[in-house]
Amino acid sequence: METVEARTIFSPATGFIRRGGFDLTCNPYLGCTFGCRYCYAMFLPQNKKPRELWGRWFSAKRNAVELARKEATKISGKAVYFSSVTDPYQPAERAMLLTRGILREMQPFQPRVVIQTRGTLVTRDIDILCRFRSLRVNLTMGSDSERVRELLEPKSPTYEKRWDAARQLADAGISLGLCITPVLPLENPERFADRIASFGAKVVVTQGFHDAAGAFGADTSPAALKVLEGLDWGPEKYRKFVETLRKQIRVYEGEKGFFPPPPPECTAQGLFPE
Ligand code: SF4
Repeated sequence: METVEARTIFSPATGFIRRGGFDLTCNPYLGCTFGCRYCYAMFLPQNKKPRELWGRWFSAKRNAVELARKEATKISGKAVYFSSVTDPYQPAERAMLLTRGILREMQPFQPRVVIQTRGTLVTRDIDILCRFRSLRVNLTMGSDSERVRELLEPKSPTYEKRWDAARQLADAGISLGLCITPVLPLENPERFADRIASFGAKVVVTQGFHDAAGAFGADTSPAALKVLEGLDWGPEKYRKFVETLRKQIRVYEGEKGFFPPPPPECTAQGLFPE
């Protein structure tokens, strides 16, 4: 682990995050020790270490909370995506408390916030998350198979722990997105679709592994592609799963699903993109 002195903590949103309607991104860390084998963040220019080291390093922005305090006035009414090149609830956050500290500084200014994570540690911060009037936690789910998780994202929380975190967040009244992004090989697609549909998340997003010529989700590592091949998973099975899910609920695909929650004065009805 290393720490770095950052110049800023809220950066202008770019790429699919910008297109989705976000103004700013917030990354308390660089690198991510969840180390998912298919992670697209390892290809981003912010992550300067060799790709083969992905998952084995992270840098913490040691002045992140102080910067958030100084810069918080500029986020009022803005849409902030948390985080675009790392996971804000990766294991180090338990002791470092950077994400928690930044959120505490942000809260009085009431930006619209999306927290994108597979870290069940997010439930620790329910007390702060509840104080935002426009916030959604997008929890990444992936698959219904622990065997698949162990092959592709072995250092991430088990799926049952994530379902449990989703339930805790929803029970606390926090708006929840379920991101099956990417959809990893499934053991029982129908049952998984039923479980997602019956959960009642505000937003459900799916994403396949496809080559989008440099755009979001394009860069699946060769190692991940090899695992996928071995598991007999491909575009046709992904498409069938999405169709099954669509029979029950609205499904956003790919970058279309990454948009901020509506402003607090509006009711959610009718304010989600088509
Ligand atoms: S949690 Fe997100 S940022 Fe971290 S390795 Fe996995 S996909 Fe990449």
